[in-house]
Amino acid sequence: MAYKSEPIVACIGLGSNLGDRVAHLRSAVNAIQHLGASMSVSSVYESEPFGVGDDEQPIYLNMAVSIQTKLAPEQLLAELLDIERANGRVRLRRNEARTLDLDILMFGEHLIETSALTVPHPRMHERAFVMLPLAEIAPHMVHPVLQRTVSEIAASLPDQGVRRIGSLDAAPAQIPFTNPV
Ligand code: ATP
Ligand code: CA
Ligand code: CA
Repeated sequence: MAYKSEPIVACIGLGSNLGDRVAHLRSAVNAIQHLGASMSVSSVYESEPFGVGDDEQPIYLNMAVSIQTKLAPEQLLAELLDIERANGRVRLRRNEARTLDLDILMFGEHLIETSALTVPHPRMHERAFVMLPLAEIAPHMVHPVLQRTVSEIAASLPDQGVRRIGSLDAAPAQIPFTNPV
């Protein structure tokens, strides 16, 4: 199972806009913890859904985590897809509402391009809901294609209305997890 004897820092983006979103994020963080060591966990952010005619879609909760793992990237992806499935993820249409979405954002400074996996995630640097949480936990990590740090990229993004709402550890009642009008 080991990829290299030295662990690699993998950054993972988490999103949920269906069902008990906090429970799905908690479940994912707990499961990802078992895939390596020294996990860092960001705050939780709210973002508007985008993509296909999805005005009706609930608001997203997003976070990022990093973990030092000895898994190979394709093994890590397989584990993440298992965690999505365990949280009720079904794929019917692109950009549809989902209980849980787990994307590999970066895998150290590795460049990966296979039919199943592109790393760094090709759209991460355009998305405030990815870059703002990631900048909390890996500000100095260098995007190996753009050759800029995570915090530089995050700071250069226009305001996309992404809001930091609190920590996953906070009691749910203290976090306004209802959709704003
Ligand atoms: P987006 O990639 O724009 O965030 P999405 O997350 O909604 O869209 P999914 O339907 O969750 O897309 O993923 C489709 C496929 O993308 C996955 O089955 C996986 O094989 C592939 N994929 C390619 N690169 C990555 C990556 N870096 N992390 C996760 N999945 C990836
Ligand atoms: Ca995604
Ligand atoms: Ca995905």
